[in-house]
Amino acid sequence: MANAQTKGRTPLMRQYYALKERHPQAILLYRMGDFYEAFDDDAETISDLLGITLTTRNNGQAEEVPMAGFPHHALEKHLPKLVESGLRMAICEQVEDADEASGKVVERDVVEIVTPGASMHEQLLSPKQANYVAAVHWGSGHDKDTVGLAYIDVSTGEFAVAEAERQALPELLQTVSPSEVIIDKANQQKLQQLPGEHDFTTTTQEDWAFTYDFAYETLTRHFETHSMKGFGVDDMEIGLVAAGAALHYAGETQKSTLPHIQRLQRHERSTYMTLDPQTKRNLELVTTIRGRGQDGSLVEILDETATAMGGRLLRNWLVRPLRKVNRIRARLDAVEALHADRDLREDLREVLGGMGDLERLAAKVATERATPRDLVAIKNTLKQIPALKELLSGNESDKLQMLNERLSSCDRVVQRIEEALVDEPPANIGDGGLIRNGYSDDLDELREIAQDGKEWITETEQEEAERTGIPSLKVGFNKVFGYYLEVTNTHKDKVPDEYIRKQTLKNSERYITPELKEVEEKILNAEERMESLEYELFQELRMALAEETGELQENAHLAAMLDVFAALAEVADRRDYTRPDVHEGRELAIEDGRHPVVEQSLAAGDSFIPNDVTLDPESEQVLIITGPNMAGKSVVLRQTGLIVLLAQIGAFVPAGSARVGVVDRIFTRVGASDNLAAGESTFLVEMNETANILNNATPDSLILLDEVGRGTSTFDGLSIAWALVEFLHEHSRLMARTLFATHYHELNALSDRFERIKNYRIQVQKHEGEIIFLRKLIPGGADHSYGIEVARMAGLPEPVIGRAREVLSYLESHQLDPMEAGDDEAADD
Ligand code: ADP
Repeated sequence: MANAQTKGRTPLMRQYYALKERHPQAILLYRMGDFYEAFDDDAETISDLLGITLTTRNNGQAEEVPMAGFPHHALEKHLPKLVESGLRMAICEQVEDADEASGKVVERDVVEIVTPGASMHEQLLSPKQANYVAAVHWGSGHDKDTVGLAYIDVSTGEFAVAEAERQALPELLQTVSPSEVIIDKANQQKLQQLPGEHDFTTTTQEDWAFTYDFAYETLTRHFETHSMKGFGVDDMEIGLVAAGAALHYAGETQKSTLPHIQRLQRHERSTYMTLDPQTKRNLELVTTIRGRGQDGSLVEILDETATAMGGRLLRNWLVRPLRKVNRIRARLDAVEALHADRDLREDLREVLGGMGDLERLAAKVATERATPRDLVAIKNTLKQIPALKELLSGNESDKLQMLNERLSSCDRVVQRIEEALVDEPPANIGDGGLIRNGYSDDLDELREIAQDGKEWITETEQEEAERTGIPSLKVGFNKVFGYYLEVTNTHKDKVPDEYIRKQTLKNSERYITPELKEVEEKILNAEERMESLEYELFQELRMALAEETGELQENAHLAAMLDVFAALAEVADRRDYTRPDVHEGRELAIEDGRHPVVEQSLAAGDSFIPNDVTLDPESEQVLIITGPNMAGKSVVLRQTGLIVLLAQIGAFVPAGSARVGVVDRIFTRVGASDNLAAGESTFLVEMNETANILNNATPDSLILLDEVGRGTSTFDGLSIAWALVEFLHEHSRLMARTLFATHYHELNALSDRFERIKNYRIQVQKHEGEIIFLRKLIPGGADHSYGIEVARMAGLPEPVIGRAREVLSYLESHQLDPMEAGDDEAADD
């Protein structure tokens, strides 16, 4: 559309708009000299977000356009803020030398698109967290009930694919928790209407990127294979469409073939326990309910890892506990072996502590982003591996033996880097001095020339000073005149005739000689060639190492695993955890269980009171736990969930002993998690969560319900709680193990009627009108809510307390028995 609006544009702005048109969904950062500039709406967006000035730029005869920008070195500083607010940033660089452009507009191109889910910038990634971009594809025709999901972490090369029934998509997304989801235009709406809480940016792609043929071609071309059979995913037709779309998108944004993505893993849903976002939050796995930080979360207690890759793996395990008993036991074996041998553990942890983030370093090598220092970090990291192997050799644990066999010291890689690079190279490739002497004859020769020249100059300085009798004669260098001889004005008269004067300063004059210029030419020539040769040699080395990406990744993964085992063993030892007995049955029996976080945060002098919890669908399916506010009901619920979860990641648990029948999902409805910002009342949120539980729980699930029904009037709440417990017991599909904490002591009546419902209470003692919390879970229901006592302890005035007692006793004397509700109806029939 070369209409009136575009006609008068300057050539520069025409180039800008052409690039912008190709990246309509992104904010374009357009490189101009030392600045990145954004125009029009983009300029307004970034000036708002970054608080930078909005100006205008002349656009030929067309209107002036809004403009905002920042110096190029501030990119890494600003990117996180821009991308974290959900923006996609297209970074446009000058791709030819400004000198070569000779008059016309310097050629520019977008070299990278940084998005919330696809980024390799260290500033945008947290060292200890994976960052996924996922693609979702809905099947059609006879596959209309199937949905495919694939996810990639471009910073590490992790790539996996899953398929599920349609309804299971929210759950699948929750398990993976991507930062960004890409979707074809046709299905954009469906994604937005998914139930449940999601926290990702949505990006649409053209529909053709979501076709089977395109996907298969993209995948097989990438992996250089004829089919996808070797990955064991050939049967996942719908999943592969998503995988192709995800890979295509990752390549497009990174402007790279992504050679570090070396395999496509099959993500089997039945392998992992499902944890929905509210459960992750309620159990405070990686963040706490209140803050966004990890202080006070489970991961803070557990994270004794010594490497960033170990930290990421631990978080990954924490939000994806296993369901297969043999895999869990294999992990537990490794933890047990390291728990039993403290010396081995300490030695391993020390060696691990000297290792860098091999996983992300390998990705940088493969995508040609690694700096000389990155390569040296790889070398230094790999050099630790023989020590790890030495320590592991002879250990009896099968899992550790397997790790040891697979760990490789990658001698070839180490040797290549060692031969080529100096031990402490400069930060930038352009700085030179990174290649070791003796690595390249050509480079050595150039270095010699430059060196000889410099020596000649130093000698000349001395000789000339003597010959001319000017003791202060100095050789200097600047960019304009090159090398020169400087003579102070005092000795001006002694300057020999053959010196050619170049520059006069206040106190001195600068001269050159033909010999000096000749040598200078040699030096500068050699230096220039050295620089490009060093760059070339470095590129060559980096490309050769890229061939080893697979091996580097494998070793990174093994080291990460070892790191997590050692960390879990360390925590177990320090905090007195025990190995759980994980089994295929449904019995859950915890003796002397503790809350891993609360036990660490008690005030000095308070000690944590351990508790027993037994759940069994045959006899103790639903436990009603009563007790006054602050008695410790929530703590019992959460610690039970956490112990099960820890057991299923393969960790030791805070308990005297624990038998854990594997759980497929943990559901929680804990505390009043306000979602008022989203316009939902607490009570509505509570009911949504409860509905989700009843609709999705299976006999293998663990349900933790805390104070359900509290958000409405007493009778409403009590009625809902009552019906809920009945349903959990009576519905044959469910039979799920359930802990139900409540201050409605009326619910205790249920245990008389239903055989698998049992009453427990948290013991308190009344002493001279005060309540003493004993924190002990004991059989039998509470007959009393103690609300008035707690109110009294909190300082409510005596007249209020007295009157409250009167009202309570009146209400209690007129109490209705909910048990008769159904009977009445029956009588009416
Ligand atoms: P409730 O859910 O019954 O209102 P909480 O479970 O929130 O009570 O517990 C209240 C506080 O009591 C906790 O924050 C913790 O400090 C303390 N507490 C709970 N259980 C224990 C225990 N077993 N040992 C020591 N302190 C505990």
